[in-house]
Amino acid sequence: MIAADRIMTTVGRFAPSPTGPLHAGSLLAAFGSWLMARRRGGLWHVRIEDVDRVRAVPGMAEQQLTMLQAFGLDWDGPIVRQSDRDALYQQALDRLLAAGEAFVCHCSRRDLEASGGRHHGRCTASAPRPDPAIRLRVPRGTRVAFDDRVRGRIEQDVGEAVGDFVLRRADGLWAYQLAVVVDDAAQHVTEVVRGADLLDSTPRQILLQRRLGLPTPAYVHLPLLLDAHGRKLSKSHAALPIDAASPLPALQHAWRQLGQAPFADVQDVPSFLDRACARFEPARIPPHDHRLCDAP
Ligand SMILES: [Zn+2]
Repeated sequence: MIAADRIMTTVGRFAPSPTGPLHAGSLLAAFGSWLMARRRGGLWHVRIEDVDRVRAVPGMAEQQLTMLQAFGLDWDGPIVRQSDRDALYQQALDRLLAAGEAFVCHCSRRDLEASGGRHHGRCTASAPRPDPAIRLRVPRGTRVAFDDRVRGRIEQDVGEAVGDFVLRRADGLWAYQLAVVVDDAAQHVTEVVRGADLLDSTPRQILLQRRLGLPTPAYVHLPLLLDAHGRKLSKSHAALPIDAASPLPALQHAWRQLGQAPFADVQDVPSFLDRACARFEPARIPPHDHRLCDAP
């Protein structure tokens, strides 16, 4: 008899925020997650994380998709956009509220800081707000541990590190943590492969999965590209642009940054990607970030 997990298809995803063009760091995350899924013949979805409608740049999602196509990173199924999914997030929030796991909070950031910051039994806001935030209740001592396939054992006391975190913001926008957890479950994602800048968010997401009774996928956090000052590239002015008109060098560069042994004599993107799928060894992914000393 074959165990159910042996025949389960790997489902991966790439989830860019449409706030700027794809750069060397986002290509690394896209390529890494594509390889992890495709090497086993798994599915790979693309999800546009435009839950923060204020920061989303009109037309940027389409530009990002065009770039993925230029790099040969083909996806399965329809493109999912978080801005279309209010009803799903609302359902999850209603369940948490009904179970007493979430609560309405009238505190401003200043109110919270005044009351010690991370936890409160009741709102200390001077006046109720017309549009309060909704937070998840995270008592002290709420520990979450998981085994990242690259970074190893990660453990966080979510109560201490973060406390009662926001699920829906006072401005009515859904918090990233809630949207991601709901979407990963709805898309049956089995393996979340993304940049290590999200390592800190993962315990919150696992906690939310548990409170919502959702499965926890495997996690693989890829190296970040840092500038000479140790800042994530996309946050610095040096976000290394990638040339979609000449995709092969950028893919080869990303391949080496994933710790993979280079191979020569490949002239075009499709044959490079075929060879990469066959030769990809996840155990070679470095558990540390790359600092680009030549970045300005
Ligand atoms: Zn409050």
